[in-house]
Amino acid sequence: MEGTFLDASMETQDNQSIAINTNRCEYFISSANNIQCQNSTSYNCSHCLSSFCLKHGLQHQQDLQAAIHRLLTEAEVSYDD
Ligand SMILES: [Zn+2]
Ligand SMILES: [Zn+2]
Repeated sequence: MEGTFLDASMETQDNQSIAINTNRCEYFISSANNIQCQNSTSYNCSHCLSSFCLKHGLQHQQDLQAAIHRLLTEAEVSYDD
């Protein structure tokens, strides 16, 4: 019984590594529901080395700029203290 369980879990790991090796957009449309974009990649982010489809590559750049802006704003607020 134990051996059967191990075989099943190893099979699951193999399937996961195959999924990671495909060139699929890494953008999560809904991170809460774990829904990932299914498009093939055509954009590589030089900042975090993630791959996205063109649409989400642009979206990711906007997300980065918003995140950087937020960090800068927070840094300014911290300076005031
Ligand atoms: Zn990035
Ligand atoms: Zn995408």
